[in-house]
Amino acid sequence: MNAASGRPAGKRYRLDKPELLAPAGNLEKLKFAVHYGADAVYIGGQKYGLRSNADNFSLEEMKEGVEFASRYGAKVFVATNIYAHQEDLAGIADYLRGLESVGISAIIAADPAVVETAMRVAPGLEVHLSTQQSTMNWQAVRFWKEEGLPRVVLARETSMDEIREIKRNVDIELEVFIHGAMCSSVSGRCVLSNHFTDRDSNRGGCCQSCRWKYDLHEGEQSVMGEGDNPFTMGSKDLCMIRHIPDLIDAGVDSFKIEGRMKSIHYVASVVNAYRQAIDAYMTDPLGYRLKQEWVDEIGKAANRPLNTGFFYSTPGAGEHIYEPEEKPAPYDFAAVVTDYEPATGMAVVQQRSPFKPGMEVEFVGPGGRAFSQKLEELFDDEGNRLDAARHPLQTIRLRTDRPVAAWDIMRKKTL
Ligand code: SF4
Repeated sequence: MNAASGRPAGKRYRLDKPELLAPAGNLEKLKFAVHYGADAVYIGGQKYGLRSNADNFSLEEMKEGVEFASRYGAKVFVATNIYAHQEDLAGIADYLRGLESVGISAIIAADPAVVETAMRVAPGLEVHLSTQQSTMNWQAVRFWKEEGLPRVVLARETSMDEIREIKRNVDIELEVFIHGAMCSSVSGRCVLSNHFTDRDSNRGGCCQSCRWKYDLHEGEQSVMGEGDNPFTMGSKDLCMIRHIPDLIDAGVDSFKIEGRMKSIHYVASVVNAYRQAIDAYMTDPLGYRLKQEWVDEIGKAANRPLNTGFFYSTPGAGEHIYEPEEKPAPYDFAAVVTDYEPATGMAVVQQRSPFKPGMEVEFVGPGGRAFSQKLEELFDDEGNRLDAARHPLQTIRLRTDRPVAAWDIMRKKTL
């Protein structure tokens, strides 16, 4: 024990808080991610990103997103991480200037042509090296630092020991995926989707064909998965909520959550849990204890099996999902609170999926505020009593057992 600091000998505690970086597939998800505690969000524009099926942002939407995020002191990054064919590069300079003009803080790029163009035509944009470059050693990180990049997003395949070694050798920001889907191939080096659907994973088209159901035949003979027992090739999802101190102590500067295609409920819940864990550790590293409610919060919005990816060992056969997983998440997003009247105890909510009186629901807000209750009477915005809230985006008034606030989520049990 160091007598002066009270820290265990040899243990290094960082004083600067790491960034919590959340995915935002559209403007509404961006607002939820920021409201629930993200320090930064990453989005896709209408070109050059790797999620061509997300509701990618127009420049106007980016501007609105940047303005919203800046009210919370948060930043917006744009994924421009395709590997570009020659034809993809037409218009890239104007596109990057456009991002700079609406206040985007950084792009996440993989192709050196995109990196070089951004540095030349849009110097106000930081360039972060995408995980698509599969960077896993300090010499490669040093190369990108010498090219002028302030941050590298490490490959998901990098171990905790390798992160420590990189941080020891190169003074640069390191961004690391801490939660979300994993590729069952080496990230970004997969052509399953290209072969099966002609959708290019490296140009944003991955259709997650590793999660399809397969039968495997060797010639005429069935080897695996015949009939009612198909198999899949998906990976368990990454979850590092139990290992926040390790990540911080290793020197990770940005904790990245995967999932621009994920729901508002998922993004808000996962950000909410990690925000609380990071803040708790940074406030009191020695007294830090993992809270089961953070783990539970993540489990309420998704039901895929979880593991720690490559951080502590190379995932083996047990880390793949061979049986198709059909179970839904235990809770479903039912409504978002838009207003609350303390005098009457009535909340105004916007419907996101059907609910009705008698149903058990849970209200959740940033910082872990949560309570359950049974729904009583429901009213529409003209005061008419309703037997159910059936219509998407319908405005509903209902009584809550405790005060709630705008942006709180009302969720219902699915199981
Ligand atoms: S098909 Fe699966 S393994 Fe291939 S890129 Fe997509 S997610 Fe990764």
